[in-house]
Amino acid sequence: MESHIVKITAIHQVTHDVKSFRIEKPAGYKFVPGQATEVAINKPGWENERRPFTFTSLNNEPSLEFTIKRYADHNGVTNQLHQLVPGDEIILHDVWGAIEYKGPGYFIAGGAGITPFIAILRQLHRDNQLAGNTLFFSNKTAADVIYEEELKSMLGTNAVYILSREQKEGYENGMIDEDYLRSHVTDFNKHFYVCGPDKMISDINATLEKLGAKPDLVVFEK
Ligand SMILES: Cc1cc2nc3c(=O)[nH]c(=O)nc-3n(C[C@H](O)[C@H](O)[C@H](O)COP(=O)(O)OP(=O)(O)OC[C@H]3O[C@@H](n4cnc5c(N)ncnc54)[C@H](O)[C@@H]3O)c2cc1C
Repeated sequence: MESHIVKITAIHQVTHDVKSFRIEKPAGYKFVPGQATEVAINKPGWENERRPFTFTSLNNEPSLEFTIKRYADHNGVTNQLHQLVPGDEIILHDVWGAIEYKGPGYFIAGGAGITPFIAILRQLHRDNQLAGNTLFFSNKTAADVIYEEELKSMLGTNAVYILSREQKEGYENGMIDEDYLRSHVTDFNKHFYVCGPDKMISDINATLEKLGAKPDLVVFEK
């Protein structure tokens, strides 16, 4: 089992409850965009509390980035992570994860479930390969949308934001359900990438299958 103690070099507020963390990159540390690692905080009592987080940086960057939503309702790891400052240390473990780009299609994300797609979409943008991809990104309110401007600048009108608890101009309102997919997906033979809360993933996967998507073209974290 790999483990690396690394320093946080910078922290930025992304939304009201999401921060990005720039981290030193261990020599030779590599991942496929979409993959994750387990992270622990290098402070007494927290070293063995590991939680999975996805790299939102690209392999060619000299440092790593995580984009992390805080659950403030209890004193878990994300609550502690949000109290760290540059210079504090975290512990990284092995790289793993099943989400990987396999070809053009539809990215369907809920909340912090966007993180694997951030890495994939940033890499595709860098490689000038974004054509043919669409993002449906569901959040409770507009204030919850992570990297909204960047996603819009990369994908243009192919970045579609859906709000479940707010009506606002420029955003769609409702849930990504059967009616939504039927009216917004033009080609069920393309790839589908699904990431979000467990129930969202299982509901959307079942709906996609019903609407004719091929199960082997649906990519999600099992
Ligand atoms: C492969 C993978 C990649 C991921 N990548 C990212 C990422 O890049 N960014 C990101 O933000 N998240 C990511 N996540 C989710 C992230 O791992 C969790 O948000 C994190 O583990 C939560 O840790 P925690 O200790 O703060 O909360 P935990 O204690 O693990 O609790 C998680 C959930 O249970 C609830 N809960 C648990 N105990 C209590 C309690 N006592 N009182 C009230 N509520 C409670 C919390 O509200 C929360 O919803 C990823 C998950 C997976 C599986």
